[in-house]
Amino acid sequence: MGVVCLMRDVTEQKRLEQIRTEFVANVSHELRTPLTSINGFLETLLDGAIDNPKVARNFLEIMNGESKRLSRLIDDLLKLSSLEDKKSSLNKQPVNLKELICETVKMLSARAQEKGIALTMAIPDDLPEVPGERGFLEQVLINLLDNAVKYTLSGGIIEIGALVNGKEIKVYVADTGIGIPEESLPRVFERFYRVDKARSRDMGGTGLGLAISKHIVEAHGGKIEVESDQEGSTFSFILPR
Ligand code: ADP
Repeated sequence: MGVVCLMRDVTEQKRLEQIRTEFVANVSHELRTPLTSINGFLETLLDGAIDNPKVARNFLEIMNGESKRLSRLIDDLLKLSSLEDKKSSLNKQPVNLKELICETVKMLSARAQEKGIALTMAIPDDLPEVPGERGFLEQVLINLLDNAVKYTLSGGIIEIGALVNGKEIKVYVADTGIGIPEESLPRVFERFYRVDKARSRDMGGTGLGLAISKHIVEAHGGKIEVESDQEGSTFSFILPR
């Protein structure tokens, strides 16, 4: 019995070490990509491109975008590690979800409008409050809505809604976007997993938004899930009341 347990412990330890090693390798790669690009453009500027103001401006704009992506990545990594620390010690207060959803929609409505996407809400007036940490729940709503805007084309529709189901509240973000292939669905909540790396990068993504959202929802005792086909995707999370 003892030997079996020890073997299981060793296997589990090896699995955790492997996850950690992969994570460190991923982080290094993700940090190095924008840095390599910044260094490349910087060297070309120093080698003479700076004398051509039009080219120089274009390079500086690219470098600006890459350095912003680097900052977002570091912010997201810090969020993930602080969440891991906090797991058992959330500072829960009653949160008015309807108000929070309205604020998030306001925050992202200009971008949706710019892209020609209609953003609608379906929230009952008497939606009860949920125990939670407001800032974290806001982060989940921003991540889901931001993705819906990113991965929906012009002319599309996004609906954010909430439903009460017994002792639980379900919030969903449904889009008519590009959809997620079936084989990728179980992986989208993994750190750094993207269906299309280039597309995610072009959209300014870090590949960490859904991993952070999953952490937050689970720390609240809830569950996050996704359904998707060619017609679009629906991300939803359930929180206990
Ligand atoms: P990213 O920063 O790349 O958006 P996320 O962790 O937020 O990272 O999402 C992981 C991946 O899941 C994305 O790269 C994208 O491929 C896919 N994804 C997330 N949300 C949607 C959506 N609403 N529609 C289509 N694909 C999505």
